[in-house]
Parts: sequence; structure tokens; C-alpha cells
Amino acid sequence: MVKEYDAVVVGAGPAGSTTALRLAEAGAKVLVVDKARFPRDKPCGGGMTLRAVRQCPVDPSPVVEDKVDVVELRFRYDESVVRHAKQPVVWMTQRRRLDAFLLDAARERGADVREETRVSFEDGNVLVLNGTERVRATAIVGADGANGMSAKALGLGGGIVHGVAYEGNAAWGVLDRDRYKHRAIIELADIPGGYGWVFAKGDHANVGVGAWLDEGPKLREFLDRLCEAHGIEASQLDALRGHRLPLRRPGTTIAGRQALLVGDAAGLVDPTSGDGMYECFVSSARASEAILDLLAGRTSTLVPYEAAVDAALGPLHKASWKLKIALDRWPRASWRVARTRLLWSSVERLLSGEIGAPGDEHGLARIPLRALSVLGR
Ligand SMILES: Cc1cc2nc3c(=O)[nH]c(=O)nc-3n(C[C@H](O)[C@H](O)[C@H](O)COP(=O)(O)OP(=O)(O)OC[C@H]3O[C@@H](n4cnc5c(N)ncnc54)[C@H](O)[C@@H]3O)c2cc1C
Repeated sequence: MVKEYDAVVVGAGPAGSTTALRLAEAGAKVLVVDKARFPRDKPCGGGMTLRAVRQCPVDPSPVVEDKVDVVELRFRYDESVVRHAKQPVVWMTQRRRLDAFLLDAARERGADVREETRVSFEDGNVLVLNGTERVRATAIVGADGANGMSAKALGLGGGIVHGVAYEGNAAWGVLDRDRYKHRAIIELADIPGGYGWVFAKGDHANVGVGAWLDEGPKLREFLDRLCEAHGIEASQLDALRGHRLPLRRPGTTIAGRQALLVGDAAGLVDPTSGDGMYECFVSSARASEAILDLLAGRTSTLVPYEAAVDAALGPLHKASWKLKIALDRWPRASWRVARTRLLWSSVERLLSGEIGAPGDEHGLARIPLRALSVLGR
């Protein structure tokens, strides 16, 4: 017998679990499937920007370990500028904890959850669980992240390019907690297509570097240099691991008649910052709206989801692509702009979600943003 669902979500990271949660809350019959058993970890800095927190359908406070109201921006491990935010602009969590918390919330709202379950796709919107059990869904959500297979199986997501990141954890003691707590350190350090970071957690700091995918063989070198700048011996880092950062090119198809992609499966990571949790929550909101429209017969297809994602994230990601190019091609000129107080006021407003994209700024604040946009042409 084939069990019927309104929606089946493949992958229970933040994108999948919040899509399932939103659908279950609206009364849909939804199944979320993951190959892992939770809690499971995911390579990630675990920094939830305030704009991400505001889009998250559940208050993540129970799994937040530090709140950042100081951003230290550094250039080539030498010059630096320290900016104080009016309120915490990044909430630090660990993905092992956040993802289990969000999945539990989806379960509590009524979603069926299947862990340690592998999925394959058949025609007619039928999914096969662990090679034996068949389920049919009116809507299929690909939420299986950067290394998932649902995009390909569903014929979506062809235009995604990749960055890559490599990170580890340094226990307090190796690093002085007082220097790092409540602070996000961003190292603009001539890493092509990326940067380094040090983010405080409850009992350790997360230390990492991101770059273009073809810089992969040099990531260890970039991380060693970052560690050296912060007085960490490379051997003192725990839990070293790398992971891809999927970046969607404009026009990449992320929705079909009865299937769509959310989060990393859709390549929605911010091209410059490498953040993806805001995008997980924004895409899960748009996805659940599109699916509820389909279930209610208000539309006959999920295709409008793509335009909704483009409207919500397109202007931000377009500006971010330009910034990425500016930092790669003109690092010193970009740094001179990035360190200005005027730019910080816009960054603070972007991080907190007060504005959705640099283009929403008005008046004098537009000047440094415009300069970065010109550098990134
Ligand atoms: C090193 C690094 C640092 C980062 N730091 C930050 C940060 O500080 N802040 C931020 O906002 N973003 C950050 N990101 C980006 C962020 O981690 C991702 O955008 C986010 O994890 C995407 O969530 P997701 O739900 O789309 O996918 P994932 O979190 O990857 O979840 C996908 C799920 O799908 C499951 N799955 C995969 N294949 C299958 C299958 N065949 N069947 C069933 N289940 C399957 C996996 O087990 C997994 O649970 C970082 C990324 C990296 C790599």
C-alpha cells in the first residue's frame, strides 16, 4: 500500500524542518525524512544573523550559546576596525543542537519524522523509503543540502556553483574567552572568494575559512595562517571538517509543477558571507506558502515559488555577488570602503533585517555601498 502525504520533505536541516513545521502548523499532512539520526552535526559557523532569527518560525533561544554585539573586521591579519552594534546582530549556536531543536519543533507541530531513512524517487511523485516503503506526495520538497541528490532527481537546480569551507573548534583555554565572547571576528585575508572567521560558542570558538571551490587544496594552509594569527597551534583544533557552499546563479530553476528546492539544495547560500540559515528560513516560508496554495487549489503548480524566492533574496544576493568580486579583484580598495563607519551602519541594518538589501538604503549611506558595487562590476 502506498501511503499518501500532502508533502514529503527530503532532508531535515533548518530548511527542511522549518518547511515541515510551517506546513504541519497550517494543517497539512507532511513527512520529513533524513538519512541521519538526530542530533547530528553539520559543518557550519553556527552564526544566526538577527535577520535569520527573525525569519525562524521558532525562537531559537534555548540553543543559543552566545550573542554578538561586537564585529571585528580585520585585513591581512594586520589592520582592524571594531564596530559595536546597538543590539546583538548574530546569535551563536551549534548546528548539532539547533537542527535537533527545529526538528523536534516540527514533530511537535504534527509532522511525521523519519530519521535514518534513505530516499529514492519514482515517477508519479512516489518516493521509496529505505528501498521498500512507498509514499506518494502532492508536493515534494528537496531540502537535502549541498551534497543532496534530490535536485538532480527532480530535474532542478542545474545552475549552482560551489564554494568550500573548512573549520574546526578551539576550546577555551587554547583561546582566551574574554577576548572573543560576544564578538564575531572576520578576517579579510586574501583568501580568493572567501574569508576567515572566529566565532564564540559556549565552551569553544569555531575557527574557519571559506573560499572558491578550486582553492580546496589550499584551505588547510589558509586555516593554519588564521590559527597562527590567533595564537592557536593547528594540532589544538578539534572536529576539523570541510563542506561545500552551494551558490545559485540567477535563473537556476528551483521549482517545478509538484516539486521545489529549499535552502542549500536550492543553492541559496549568500555568495559573500557564506550564510545560509537566513535563506533556509526565507525559502521555507515561501515554499510552504506555494505548497499551501497548491493544496488548496489556488494554483496548479509550484512554479510561482521561484519568483517569490527571487523577490525575497534576489536583490541581496545580486549585491553580494558584486561584493565578492570587489573583494577578490580590489581587496585594499574594498577594505578602505568596508572599514568606514557609514558602511557599518548599513551592515548593521542588513544583519538585523531592517533592510532587505543594500539597494534599500537611502541618502548618504548609499555612497559606500555604491562604491563597492562599482568595484564589483
Ligand atoms: C563551514 C561552513 C560554515 C557556515 N557557517 C554559517 C554560519 O555561520 N551562518 C549561516 O547562516 N550559515 C552558515 N553556513 C551555511 C549553512 O550551514 C547552510 O546554508 C545550511 O546548513 C543549509 O541548511 P539546509 O537545511 O539547506 O541543509 P543541511 O543543513 O545540509 O541539511 C541537509 C539534510 O539533508 C540530509 N540528507 C542529505 N541527503 C539525504 C538523502 N539522500 N536522504 C535523506 N536525507 C538526506 C542530511 O543528512 C542533512 O540533515 C556555513 C556553511 C559551511 C559549510
